[in-house]
Amino acid sequence: MLFQSIIYGPIHSRRLGTSLGVELMPLDHKLCTFNCVYCECGWNTPVSHPVLPTREQVKAALEEKLSTLNSQLSTITFSGNGEPTLHPDFLGIIEDTIALRNQYCPQAKVSVLSNSTQLGRPDVVQALQLCDNRILKLDAATDEMMRRIDLPVNTQLTVAQIITWLQQFNGDFTLQTCFLRGEHNGLPIDNTTPEQLSAWYQAVDTLHPKQIMIYVIDRKTPEEHLSKIPRSEMDSIAAPLLAKGYDVLISA
Ligand code: SF4
Repeated sequence: MLFQSIIYGPIHSRRLGTSLGVELMPLDHKLCTFNCVYCECGWNTPVSHPVLPTREQVKAALEEKLSTLNSQLSTITFSGNGEPTLHPDFLGIIEDTIALRNQYCPQAKVSVLSNSTQLGRPDVVQALQLCDNRILKLDAATDEMMRRIDLPVNTQLTVAQIITWLQQFNGDFTLQTCFLRGEHNGLPIDNTTPEQLSAWYQAVDTLHPKQIMIYVIDRKTPEEHLSKIPRSEMDSIAAPLLAKGYDVLISA
């Protein structure tokens, strides 16, 4: 499933409410630094010269939509056909978006769903700090399982590196984790084992995020051999965090 326009929606998001989507990646294929086995956009398609919308195009499309929108928005959300922070003008686009939000719908939040891989870039960190909601992915807290689930393009990427990057926000972000089981290329995938959960709980305590979103696969996935974690099990995963006082949102 690909989003085929720069602005889409508003849609009702199970996690964010009434959300107007902004697409910064190509409209005809996915572009991401991960290739998650559960990605609703499918597998990455290598393209030599991907075409991204310009900062000016995004600003014009967003202004046109916001100026005619009747409904109340909960959020303007950057996500879609890949990793939005890959856009070279991401910081400028966020600055434009905040100005337009303030002008047309000051109640709406500006949210970014990111896979956390670009947090080594100061411009990306600066942009995310300007937003209301930084929703940042950590699907597993061991290198082996993170690599099996997310299939990072940078095969040397480590969980320790991601955690160090996430610590730049001093807990002022939402941690998002997709829980799943299955297999890919003959290797088992399961981030719900006691060993995996123990490492993930430890990462949560290190990061102390202001909110934790845990969710399950909801639509068709590129890897077919995956299964959805039942709601009762998601409740059990959340329970120790709730007991510690964390704000945990379960989408299951
Ligand atoms: S990070 Fe998001 S867009 Fe990228 S592959 Fe994973 S689910 Fe898809």
